[in-house]
Amino acid sequence: MIPYGRQSISQADIEAVVAVLRSDFLTQGPAVPRFEAAVAARAGARHAVAVNSATSGLHVACLALGLGPGDLLWTSPITFVASANSALFCGAAVDFVDIDPATCNMSVAALEAKLAAAHAAGRLPKIVMPVHFAGEPCDMEPIARLAREYGFKVVEDASHAVGASYRGVPVGACAHSDIAVFSFHAVKIVTTAEGGAALTNDPALARRMALLRSHGVTREPDLMVRAPDGPWYYEQVALGFNYRMTDMAAALGSSQLDRLDAFLELRHQRARRYDRLLAALPLTLPLRHPLNRSALHLYAVRLKDASPRERRAVFERLRAAGIGVNVHYVPVHLQPHYAALGFRPGQFPEAEAYYRQAITLPLFAGLTEADQDAVVRALEEALG
Ligand SMILES: *Cc1c(COP(=O)(O)O)cnc(C)c1O
Repeated sequence: MIPYGRQSISQADIEAVVAVLRSDFLTQGPAVPRFEAAVAARAGARHAVAVNSATSGLHVACLALGLGPGDLLWTSPITFVASANSALFCGAAVDFVDIDPATCNMSVAALEAKLAAAHAAGRLPKIVMPVHFAGEPCDMEPIARLAREYGFKVVEDASHAVGASYRGVPVGACAHSDIAVFSFHAVKIVTTAEGGAALTNDPALARRMALLRSHGVTREPDLMVRAPDGPWYYEQVALGFNYRMTDMAAALGSSQLDRLDAFLELRHQRARRYDRLLAALPLTLPLRHPLNRSALHLYAVRLKDASPRERRAVFERLRAAGIGVNVHYVPVHLQPHYAALGFRPGQFPEAEAYYRQAITLPLFAGLTEADQDAVVRALEEALG
């Protein structure tokens, strides 16, 4: 089976992890701050807080921005469930903004209309969380303008977008947001097996997220409420979690980050080749904005005019031919957990229409041209 995504692990990656295993610290050692500095430098952000997953990163990002019961977060329905769940973790409510079918990113026009209605109804979101679907950046400039106009915070779910840039500026620089969160899950652009990072230019937010990552416990006297009892003294000043990244993970991440440009180049080469080989088929191919650089986490196509039954048949034929296709994503508002909160089919028609026709093709750094030819052949036959 040719998978839809796969990690690429080099000898240098292995040696970096083994070196940590032979060192004094498996966790809370020097590899984590080193990785954080590399992630921040690469993205052009002042701070990066490494965590054990993007899910944890989104959670501490929302908490640091003060999201809580009675508050509202808006995100895209075409995302992994973790984006929306991060608000529920905080006791806040979630709502969705429909997608722009051209990119599958949150539609700025839909956001603008929904904000006007929410303003009139007195129920504005505290946080809007755009998701850079497949690594193609959302249109952040108008989102930032709306954030100033309506007074909400912006957290980018940049899980797919490590190495992407928006109008020449790296995603993660937080040029148009308060916080951006990367995922380093094994299937993403660079990996720490499980892992994530929350980036920000605001030192107070960075400190708050670092505190929440580790039990809300601090050893820094200036964060303490009381005077230290002695040199051993630590203080819990908030209800935090154990969301720490291990040093093995961080060392793997630093080694992987050295290969980010090579990974991106390979993904772009393969994507351009798909664009060429699939041009004549009845598919809508993923759009890349000429002023942006996608990280191309996914190559998701849409079957033109296909019914759900036809999409299912094509998907099953591809799987039977050994092509590990996937679907990203089941719209979050249709998940039973969200249906139980009152969401209904028909609320986000572009997201639902996209879901009925979407198939994600294999794309990863190690995908060979022969693999790709096999995907194209199977797709030609499946579309028959
Ligand atoms: C992968 C992913 C997450 C969660 O990332 P983890 O690191 O696995 O927690 C969140 N949002 C999106 C859009 C993702 O693709």
